[in-house]
Amino acid sequence: MTQPEEHTGSYYAATANRKTDFSPLQGAQTADVCVIGAGFTGLSTALHLVERGYNVHVVEANRVGWGATGRNGGQMISGIAGERHMAKKHGRDVEEMFGELRWAGHDIIRERVKTYGIQCDLKSGYLDVAIKPRHMRDIEADYDRLMKANFPYEVRILSREETRAATGSDSYIGALLNNGNGHLHPLNLCIGEADAAVSLGATIYEQSPVLNIERGTQPTVVTQDGSVTADAVILAGNAYHHIEPKLRGIMFPVNSFIVATEPLSEEIVAAINPQDLAICDPNFVLQYYRLSADKRLLFGARLNYFGDDPEYIKKQHRKSILKHYPQLQDVNFDYAWGGKIGVPINRVPLMGRVDRNIFYSQGYSGHGVNVTHLAGQIMADAVAGTFERFDLFADVKPFVVPGAHTFRKPMVALGVLYYKIKDRL
Ligand SMILES: Cc1cc2nc3c(=O)[nH]c(=O)nc-3n(C[C@H](O)[C@H](O)[C@H](O)COP(=O)(O)OP(=O)(O)OC[C@H]3O[C@@H](n4cnc5c(N)ncnc54)[C@H](O)[C@@H]3O)c2cc1C
Repeated sequence: MTQPEEHTGSYYAATANRKTDFSPLQGAQTADVCVIGAGFTGLSTALHLVERGYNVHVVEANRVGWGATGRNGGQMISGIAGERHMAKKHGRDVEEMFGELRWAGHDIIRERVKTYGIQCDLKSGYLDVAIKPRHMRDIEADYDRLMKANFPYEVRILSREETRAATGSDSYIGALLNNGNGHLHPLNLCIGEADAAVSLGATIYEQSPVLNIERGTQPTVVTQDGSVTADAVILAGNAYHHIEPKLRGIMFPVNSFIVATEPLSEEIVAAINPQDLAICDPNFVLQYYRLSADKRLLFGARLNYFGDDPEYIKKQHRKSILKHYPQLQDVNFDYAWGGKIGVPINRVPLMGRVDRNIFYSQGYSGHGVNVTHLAGQIMADAVAGTFERFDLFADVKPFVVPGAHTFRKPMVALGVLYYKIKDRL
């Protein structure tokens, strides 16, 4: 692992409620549970555990929320990628198996925001937009599924005209409005969860890359200047993970990039997103966008690009944005950044163990805001000895891609090209 890094360059880092400054790990420490990684997976798990009375230490290589958690689109999307694959493996009906699990993470987020008074601009309202007739058929099927599962929030299918009014764009032929989904400032949610965990007794170490885990009845997590010996370890490094070789070949780290414009005028806001919705298209190589609390357009998309030059990202995204919103021609882009999404081949979130007392959870295929919060609860259950929901995921064996890490870049580039062609069909 390289030297610890600061989180800079993103709109979220610039508007964080505070800059965290937890001390690095030093000396030999002990805990009930040691969590590696302070993103949503790690901190969601830590908070569930301290709420149940566990002594938890969280060890982060960089800063709280430094990974995908502090860089993402902030879209709170229900659903678990790979549902059909999981149901098939378990020989069960998808609807009966998933139901409320699809939005369980949202409920956890809403509850935490309320309980701990977390300021993270949480808002309800989300549009799944359709570009082609086959997308409309998917939207109708989604609508039926949510109705069958007694989804407790407003959901409505929008006509072409209603979609144009909601998005200010002619690009879409219809949409599903879902007021159970929504959007938020992900870094501020994560920092709020870190502070909540600390207030209940958790210890967080930043700037402390874990170099090794010594296995045993009580595994020891080792950094350059210290160690934590615990009854259980949770690996929550997701696409930034490097220490356990077994976890490296079971998902692809795929890059996604976001730009934030300067704050937009009231007229433009009223024209492009009057209901303040998060918007996401149905493509594999998808575009997702929304307004920030200070009315910037935050626009994200995957690019076949492995660098992090803000000017390149702005140039590419400007072209896409202007297709929807020509009136943004002269708007400045203040921020551009990217991050890594963990994508398993079969899309099923990866939960399991590398040893009896070393657990992992990773690979949410771009749906992590919701699913990490569910995963944290499931991991905490597993540590406490309840495996029912953990096994739903852990029993689905991941596909291993030979050479996935050595040939990652060409394989991801080919994959993105394949999906771009598929999206056009
Ligand atoms: C650009 C982008 C846009 C996205 N948009 C959305 C969206 O709109 N909605 C949505 O639901 N999902 C979205 N996602 C996905 C979502 O952000 C992730 O699924 C989620 O944040 C994963 O959280 P995590 O805690 O598992 O991983 P991360 O947030 O990546 O955290 C992993 C942490 O582990 C630490 N770590 C790694 N190795 C070590 C080590 N050896 N020692 C110590 N610490 C270590 C890292 O420093 C990092 O902080 C997006 C992702 C990206 C990149």
